[in-house]
Amino acid sequence: MDVKKISCDPMCGFAVQSHDEKELLAIVGSHVKKIHNKAVSASELKGMMQTVSA
Ligand SMILES: [Zn+2]
Repeated sequence: MDVKKISCDPMCGFAVQSHDEKELLAIVGSHVKKIHNKAVSASELKGMMQTVSA
């Protein structure tokens, strides 16, 4: 199973990886909202998503 990864801004350094795409979107979405005080849409998050090959 592929692992998906989303990295926040390089200045921030926050990155999460998970098998569960929904979980990943939820974690990064709440991070961006809480830490950066920005709203980010699911499609934007999907655009940031990378597949990590095992
Ligand atoms: Zn961040």
